[in-house]
Amino acid sequence: MVTGGAGFVGSHLCERLLAEGHRVVCVDNFSTGRAENIAHLLDHPGFRFSLQDVTEGLNVPGRVDAVYHLASPASPADYLRLPVETLLVGSYGTRNALELARRDGARFLLTSTSEVYGSPQVHPQPESYWGNVNPVGPRSVYDEAKRFGEAITMAYHRTHGVRTTIVRIFNTYGPRMRADDGRAVPAFVTQALAGEPLTVTGDGGQTRSMCYVDDLVDGLRRALDSGHAGPVNLGNPVEVTMRELALTVSDLCGSASELTLVPRPQDDPQQRRPDITAAREELGWVPRTSLEDGLRRTVAWFRDSAADTGLPADHEEAASALAA
Ligand code: NAD
Repeated sequence: MVTGGAGFVGSHLCERLLAEGHRVVCVDNFSTGRAENIAHLLDHPGFRFSLQDVTEGLNVPGRVDAVYHLASPASPADYLRLPVETLLVGSYGTRNALELARRDGARFLLTSTSEVYGSPQVHPQPESYWGNVNPVGPRSVYDEAKRFGEAITMAYHRTHGVRTTIVRIFNTYGPRMRADDGRAVPAFVTQALAGEPLTVTGDGGQTRSMCYVDDLVDGLRRALDSGHAGPVNLGNPVEVTMRELALTVSDLCGSASELTLVPRPQDDPQQRRPDITAAREELGWVPRTSLEDGLRRTVAWFRDSAADTGLPADHEEAASALAA
């Protein structure tokens, strides 16, 4: 089972699991995901979609042997728009997903985040770093929801013996990100393709480490299969400034767009880079896709994304067509 399977990462994970011959139940409420992301999987005999809000309990008949718990708003624009829902899906939603794993003796994977490190005072960030999170700032709805998610996952592991794994995902990008989700890559790509100025926050000197989605999905598969409780960082340790990222995207789009500097959001971390020693040693995982290759594939997808999915163009209509 994949919760949040109609989202950006979840839809790639569903595809990968089906390609490996597994049967997949995808649970989603379309709060930030899209019907279009899974429309091409609906005819696959191994795929089943179930429209459910995981905060309200999980009704999954039959026995599941693995639970990938991805359901949660993930981009700052989304979780700032859905603050209470974000806290509830991280708390009740994670508890419900853990209960299902406990019921069936299934393995369980929590997709936590580099945001648990807050604005880090240790660089790069190893899993042993406890973080520097502002518990009452606007971003805390996401950071603290994920920290709670990690705590309850460890409690189910220690108290009920559920075979859990926690991964802390660093910035990931690729096809199927929403153009309007507020994250840097889709924003830069859509602006560059439209010939508009690329909006870079602050002076553009803040850094992120960008991992291509196929590499991340490979890490998720290895993490669940490894039985390693974690937490394990999954991310690409190659660090770029936002300015460099914007210029690379602009080049790949063949755009002559200028960069425009806009104010940085509150509590925006200055730097981010994973220490992936644990992923390398425990999972045999390293990211393989260069930033330029990954961005090229992402740009190509955004160029073609008007392609016909067989669903209505309007997202709300598409979601209800699928749910029906
Ligand atoms: P996304 O927003 O594209 O996908 C999340 C999915 O969860 C969506 O399909 C959404 O509809 C679904 N969802 C949200 N609340 C739900 C609820 N109550 N019930 C059922 N479904 C619900 O985000 P994403 O980028 O694919 O992220 C997937 C997971 O990975 C998230 O848990 C996120 O926190 C984590 N993560 C992602 C990144 C990244 O860079 N993409 C980084 C760190 C962590």
